[in-house]
Amino acid sequence: MIITSSKPFEEVLALLEHEDDIFIIGCNVCAAKLKTGGEPEVLDMEARLKAAGKHVVGWALPTAACSVRSYGSLVEKNPAIKDAHCVLVMGCGSGVSIVAKVVDLPIYGSNDTVSLGGSSEGKLLTQLCVMCGDCNIGEFGGFCPKSLCPKGLLNGPCGGATDGKCEVDREKDCVWALIYERLKKIKRLDLLYEVHAPREYGFK
Ligand code: SF4
Ligand code: SF4
Repeated sequence: MIITSSKPFEEVLALLEHEDDIFIIGCNVCAAKLKTGGEPEVLDMEARLKAAGKHVVGWALPTAACSVRSYGSLVEKNPAIKDAHCVLVMGCGSGVSIVAKVVDLPIYGSNDTVSLGGSSEGKLLTQLCVMCGDCNIGEFGGFCPKSLCPKGLLNGPCGGATDGKCEVDREKDCVWALIYERLKKIKRLDLLYEVHAPREYGFK
């Protein structure tokens, strides 16, 4: 799941300062789950924009903003988009980019894209993966230090953790403590002896 957070409404309004005849596109997957772009949020955005004096020509809620197929597919279900002079996408940055590929109008995003995460046991989990393009998370028992260690350490902890908490952010668990406990549980402590080469930061 792509983790997004809603920009303050004033910020969205400032983005749209010189725009009118707005068409809103939500996202019925990640943004809906996070309440940053599902139907209630789209309707709320429509009402607030109208209250701020903006003309909203309509809105759509595709299955996912990042999988809008074509302008034709949008028009087919939402002909009002033909009257729009700009589009506000309530999804992640990827959703905004995909809509920009198919709609030849100014495009704006109402959300900030924060990280890749998910939810488990009723908790929202963020920053689970930084999409390094070279996944070896299995060697760390399923906890990614590239993402979860603020220092990105691939070969064990820095030594600064106290009571299992990270020295950089005391609110968070040291990922290397989690990795150790996990590898112990699955009887793979031998993986701690693997030496990991420095990470390649270039694009593939
Ligand atoms: S190693 Fe970590 S950052 Fe890279 S793809 Fe796997 S989970 Fe994501
Ligand atoms: S305490 Fe753990 S998570 Fe924090 S920087 Fe050190 S190794 Fe990384």
